[in-house]
Amino acid sequence: MEPDLNTQTVEESLTKSKRSCQQYEVVVKPTQWSIIYSSEYNIGFCGLEKLHPFDSGKWGKIFEFLKVAGMLREDTVVEPMEATEEDLLLVHSNKYLRSLKLANIVEGMNEWSINVAGITEVPPVALLPNFIVQKKVLRPFRFQTSGTIMGGKLAIERGWAINIGGGFHHCSANRGGGFCAYADITLSIQYAFQIFNISKAMIIDLDAHQGNGHERDFMDDNKVYILDIFNRDIYPHDGFAKRAIKRKVEIGCFTDNEKYLKLVERHVEGALNEFTPDLVVYNAGTDILEGDPLGLLSITAEGIIQRDEIVFTKCRSRNIPIVMVTSGGYLRETARIVANSILNLRHKSLISCTEAEQAGLIEPDVLPQTSLPRSFSDGGLFARFKRSCLSRSSNSFQNITDLSPSRPMSDQQLSNSDNITCSDMGFTMDDNRF
Ligand SMILES: [Zn+2]
Repeated sequence: MEPDLNTQTVEESLTKSKRSCQQYEVVVKPTQWSIIYSSEYNIGFCGLEKLHPFDSGKWGKIFEFLKVAGMLREDTVVEPMEATEEDLLLVHSNKYLRSLKLANIVEGMNEWSINVAGITEVPPVALLPNFIVQKKVLRPFRFQTSGTIMGGKLAIERGWAINIGGGFHHCSANRGGGFCAYADITLSIQYAFQIFNISKAMIIDLDAHQGNGHERDFMDDNKVYILDIFNRDIYPHDGFAKRAIKRKVEIGCFTDNEKYLKLVERHVEGALNEFTPDLVVYNAGTDILEGDPLGLLSITAEGIIQRDEIVFTKCRSRNIPIVMVTSGGYLRETARIVANSILNLRHKSLISCTEAEQAGLIEPDVLPQTSLPRSFSDGGLFARFKRSCLSRSSNSFQNITDLSPSRPMSDQQLSNSDNITCSDMGFTMDDNRF
C-alpha cells in the first residue's frame, strides 16, 4: 500500500536525518558576487511556452541587463548544479517526485505528462512525452531550486545573496501548482537548519500571490516566521495555508504605491522587531507591477525598486542574512525592473563584492541598454495577446524608474497590427486562474 502523501516512510526519515547537500559543496571564489544564475534556468520548448502568460526567458534577460550594465559576467556569478533527486528528498516525498514523472498515468498514454501540465498550467504540455517535459520544464526548475538552496548558504556566509530565479512559493512538499514544481524556499530553509544549525528563519513573501506552498510546509513550525503581503482577490485563496502566516497583510486589487510601500515599511519593521531570524528568504515577485494581468495591483517600477530597498535596508542594518528570489512577474519589462532593482541595491551599498570590484570587473554606474538583444524579442502568439490585453489596461507603462535611461515602448508601439483580444483567448483581464 502506498504511504499517505503526508507520511514519510521510516526509510525516508532515516535518509533525511543523514543528509548532506551537494549544492553546499560548490566552491565560490571571492571574485564572484553572491548572485546565482545559470543559463539552464530558461525554459523553451517548441514554442509551447508561449501558451502560458509567463515570460519564460525572464531570468536570462535579467542576467543580460546586469552584464550590459557592467556588473556581472559569466565568471563572476555563481552557477548552481542541477538539484538531484536526493537533494529534493529532504523535503519532497518519493511519491511526489514520482508523480512528476508519471508514466502509465493513463492506460495507453504511456509517459505522457499530465501531472506536470497541471503544475505549469500549460495544457498542451500533457501531450508531450515525459522525457521532453523532464528536459525542458522540470530541469530548469531543478537548476533554479538549487540556486535558492545555494542562496541560503551564501547569504549566511556573506550576509546576502540573490538567486536570479526561484521563488516557487505555491509548491509544498506534497503538492505543486501555479507554475511551481519544487518547494525551493522550504528546501533552502531546511538545508540551512540542518547544515548551518540555524535556529530561526523568516520568509518575507511580497509576490502578489499568497505563498501557500511554504505556508503549508511550515504550518505549526515556530522556528519559521512568515510575513505575507498579497492580493486577497486572486489565486490561490488557500484558507488553510493562511493559518501559517504570522503576519498576514491582505490587500485589494489595484492597491497603489503609496499605500503598498507604507504597508511594506510597517510590516517588515514589525516582523523584524517581533522575531529575530538567522536567515531571511525574501520572495520578491514582481507581479505587483501595474498592468500585470495576474497580480492585479498598481505598483510602479519605481515602487518595486523602493520595496526591495526597504527589505534589504531593514535586514542588512540588523545584520540578518537575506537571500532574495525573483518569483512571479510576467510582463515584458519585468526583467529590466529586476535588473534595475539589483543595480539600485548595489548603488546604495546594500549589496557589494569588494573583490570583484577591485579585480577591475566592474564599470560603475553603467546602466542597462534601452533595448533587449534581438534574440530575446518575443513576438509569439501569447506575447501579442499579452500586449493586446495590457494596452487595454491602465497606464501600465507610464511609470518608469529613474534608473532606466529610456521609456519602455508606448501602448501604441506595443499594440501591433495583428492584435489578439482577451476574449479571443477565452478569458478576461479579471480571470484569476493563473
Ligand atoms: Zn505571483
